Amino acid sequence: MNRPPTEIEKYARRFGYDVEYTDLPPAIGGHVLPDGKRLCIVVNRTWPAPEQDFTIAHEVVHCRLHYGQKLVPLKIIREFQANSLAWVIMFWIGKPETFAACLERHPLALPQAMLGLFAGMILLAEDRLEPYRNKIQARFRKQKP
Ligand SMILES: [Zn+2]
Repeated sequence: MNRPPTEIEKYARRFGYDVEYTDLPPAIGGHVLPDGKRLCIVVNRTWPAPEQDFTIAHEVVHCRLHYGQKLVPLKIIREFQANSLAWVIMFWIGKPETFAACLERHPLALPQAMLGLFAGMILLAEDRLEPYRNKIQARFRKQKP
């Protein structure tokens, strides 16, 4: 891939995930491939760029919420979480035109995108508050009776 990495790809790499573009069956956008201690997000290189971004965002959610966890929800729930939060990542991390291009081609995803934008705030809020976690917890402990 000779184009510069998208914001979504940079977001994935910030968590330490590799991103590779490769040949996959046409219906498969991508998947996660454990590569030693790292997780690699493999993306279908023939898909349009916005859908590739969506795939990366979707797989980042799987990596963060589902990989290496003792208890994982049913597949249908995992996919719902990954799709909903992928829209959140697309909206807040990616470019608005990429988000719009994806939604234009997948209009049935609109309710899920809107639900994701609402519910997924928690995930991003946690990311943003991470540097202040100790401070917040210390304050909370002080207030306990
Ligand atoms: Zn998935």
